[in-house]
Amino acid sequence: MKALVLNDIADIKLCEIPRPEPGRGEVLLKVEASGICSSDYNRIYVDGAHKMPLIPGHEFVGTVTEIGPGVREELLGKRAAVYPLLPCRQCDECMREEYELCGYYDYFGTRRNGGFAEYVAVPVFNLVILPEEMSSLEAVICEPAAVCSHAVRLSGLQHGDIAVVIGTGTMAYLTALIAKIRGAGKVIVIGHSTDKVKRISKACDHVVNAKIWDPEEAVHTLTVGHMADVVYECVGSSEALSYAIAVSGEQTRIIAVGEPDDDIVIGQNLYWKLLRKEIVVRGLWNSGYNSGKNDWTRVISYITEGLIDPAEIVTNVYPLEKFEEALGMLRGEEDHMKVVFSFPESEKEAPEAPADNG
Ligand SMILES: [Zn+2]
Ligand SMILES: [Zn+2]
Repeated sequence: MKALVLNDIADIKLCEIPRPEPGRGEVLLKVEASGICSSDYNRIYVDGAHKMPLIPGHEFVGTVTEIGPGVREELLGKRAAVYPLLPCRQCDECMREEYELCGYYDYFGTRRNGGFAEYVAVPVFNLVILPEEMSSLEAVICEPAAVCSHAVRLSGLQHGDIAVVIGTGTMAYLTALIAKIRGAGKVIVIGHSTDKVKRISKACDHVVNAKIWDPEEAVHTLTVGHMADVVYECVGSSEALSYAIAVSGEQTRIIAVGEPDDDIVIGQNLYWKLLRKEIVVRGLWNSGYNSGKNDWTRVISYITEGLIDPAEIVTNVYPLEKFEEALGMLRGEEDHMKVVFSFPESEKEAPEAPADNG
């Protein structure tokens, strides 16, 4: 099969390697779409992965084409998204089904081979079976959307709350949309990039370009002095966290969603504000995948109900062969949101030919 193999930092190649075999309790998933995360970009070009060589990619969707021992046959031919975290399922956190807090987890595309390949062997536990009418290019946003759903859940957003989202990327877009779906009274996005600011205006009530309007002043004006009840920091920078504190009011909950690419430093005055206003900063990791109504089932229903339109989010689609161009999109200045590798979809099994009666 074809796969993108990361051998070392910035050393990534399209290779022909053996197809994985589904083990006990696993299926072979023929990948149909695989999203590129900004964390993949950093893993490939800046930080490297935990283990190399590695096939990156943790946002993938495909069709079950083979089953391993002990797997129900009815899964064959089903299309599924994949919860990318493989929890130990033995620790206290796992017993409480808080798999994202498992300390002994494995992970597709960062610790074990992931979805930038034609096939992946996936445990049945990690399969999120999709509604038949949902295409792979729609379902590919399930993973980032589930993380954003988790962020909104952790923030304790109440009906009518004022939500501020810092950032204009995929996570910011999805978080703004989901906050609105879950009843935010007003969603204000704060960003920089002019193209993205325009795009994200569809997902919220107000967009503030921080280059033009000071975020604190803007939120003060737009909320008539109320300020934010919840803030989602979807960038992971000192500046973004500073904005988050600046737009906060009393006991505002800030959810840290963005992954930092440097030390996060805030000024003394903002730190004083954090104390005086009893502001809560809470980290976020991955998505909820408990057996009840979890973040994945929620976002699938949002897509099915038309509340999230994946076509607004997936802006660039490439075959695996054009990986340099695809990854280059994440580096470039050109306007984009989600960049996705798309693979030819599985051929539907041909109906059996009528018996030849001679
Ligand atoms: Zn991701
Ligand atoms: Zn565990």
